Amino acid sequence: MNLNDEVARRRTFAIISHPDAGKTTLTEKLLLFAGAIQIAGSVKARKASRHAASDWMEIEKQRGISVASSVMQMEYRDCVINLLDTPGHQDFSEDTYRVLTAVDAALMVIDAGNGVEPQTIRLLQVCRARNTPIITFINKLDREVREPLDLLSEIEGHLGMDAIPFSWPVGMGRSFGGVFDLRHDRMRVFRPGAERHRDDDETIEGRDNPALASRFGDAHAKAAEEIELITGAMPAFDQAAFLAGRQTPVFFGSAINNFGVREVLDALVELAPAPGPRAALERSVLPAEPKFTGVVFKVQANMDPAHRDRVAFVRVSSGRFERGMRLKVARNGKEIRPNNVVSFLSQRREIVEEAFAGDIIGIPNHGILQLGDVLTEGESLTFTGLPFFAPELFQAVEVKDPLRTKQLRTGLTQLGEEGAIQVFRPEAAGGALLLGAVGQLQFEVVAHRLKTEYGVDARLMPSRYSLARWITCPDARILKKFMDANAANIAYDVVDAVAFLAGSPAQLRVAQERYPEIEFHTMREHA
Ligand code: GDP
Repeated sequence: MNLNDEVARRRTFAIISHPDAGKTTLTEKLLLFAGAIQIAGSVKARKASRHAASDWMEIEKQRGISVASSVMQMEYRDCVINLLDTPGHQDFSEDTYRVLTAVDAALMVIDAGNGVEPQTIRLLQVCRARNTPIITFINKLDREVREPLDLLSEIEGHLGMDAIPFSWPVGMGRSFGGVFDLRHDRMRVFRPGAERHRDDDETIEGRDNPALASRFGDAHAKAAEEIELITGAMPAFDQAAFLAGRQTPVFFGSAINNFGVREVLDALVELAPAPGPRAALERSVLPAEPKFTGVVFKVQANMDPAHRDRVAFVRVSSGRFERGMRLKVARNGKEIRPNNVVSFLSQRREIVEEAFAGDIIGIPNHGILQLGDVLTEGESLTFTGLPFFAPELFQAVEVKDPLRTKQLRTGLTQLGEEGAIQVFRPEAAGGALLLGAVGQLQFEVVAHRLKTEYGVDARLMPSRYSLARWITCPDARILKKFMDANAANIAYDVVDAVAFLAGSPAQLRVAQERYPEIEFHTMREHA
């Protein structure tokens, strides 16, 4: 198969949802329908350790599993599907945002009882900012849930895009009869049961089929009315609008009952885009270019903390990766020749022989690869768009034993590079290092890892800051003037980008009003 064909059959997407909407269940079912059944157990195992900070020890034990199962590759029909999980816990959401930069589409799972929930909204904002096409799965129709029309308008409101139903539920909860496939004009009859995954569902052809009314009574009458309404009022599905992030196809189902899952897989293959061009500062990189390029979008500490080895997750942006090939790290020109690169086919970590644009490969390393790093066959390239978000929580950090200050710095630098936490160095002399996070759990994880991996007992203390903005200004003199006037609030992050730390929104507003020339950024992109 040539490079063009390999690229054309790739589908790389992230699965996003608010915790408990059914992401884990749907993931398992997608794998099941694609024939990668052995995986189901490990998705669950990982999930078991997810919930609270007190589970962190457990999380760590499970880290091997989570490394392997945060990326899953499967083959379905003629396609190779790369599915990237996003951590459900909101305290890890920064990681999630970066995962979204590595995909070409997103699958959003919504609990039909709860509608669009806060955690989903934040993720959607990132998708919207990047015009990522979104496929929507409305889950749990086997329960008494919200009215489908309500759900649609809520989705439209939050996404700012048209929600185009591809199927429509007939009844719900106890009266759930199945879903009507609007494109093929037939009803798929619901049968509960988690074990079944062959296509032996009963179908009834035709919207006007008298069998429907007699079997599903009121539920059918109501669905027929709603379908009438939506087909009259909704725009037709338009592939270009979907790809541009202006329309989302919507499917209804019940993941736990394996119902509506096949339709989602088919939609991924038929509707979701193959890998497209990626923007670099220097030029646009096309997926089927012969030369390999890739970006590190996630760094994860590996199973054995004592060895401090990490896995860099690389999204292949172009060309073909081949085992043992020489790669250049664009940031510093260093050459690496990774031999033990892993892929994630069928959940087993397998040594990869080759990979193509759209695929995700894992490169074990000892810190040579950082978040945002670009790998090439020699070209100097800088990809844009790996986001860091302004932290919302701050703690000052000090080491209990001053003799271990160096270890603290090393540990924080590495954890900062990994993206586990953001580290700020205050401009004011003598100030303690500051940790910035988007979720409280990040602090606990970092304190724990400093201790176990770096032998540092860190003391975390309350900080007077509550928000941060990266600052830039076209006029260097004004920037300098601002920094001098606000020296007590200026700090540098791991890549020495300048940030303004404020104690309150009011303080930020005052600074913004006084210095209209300065730009305050809530997000910093790599480079
Ligand atoms: P996640 O947190 O989004 O990964 O959610 P899970 O997949 O763990 O599901 C959360 C809960 O909802 C679990 O108890 C599932 O068994 C349940 N669940 C998932 N899908 C369905 C469904 O289709 N119907 C019902 N009734 N429950 C479901």
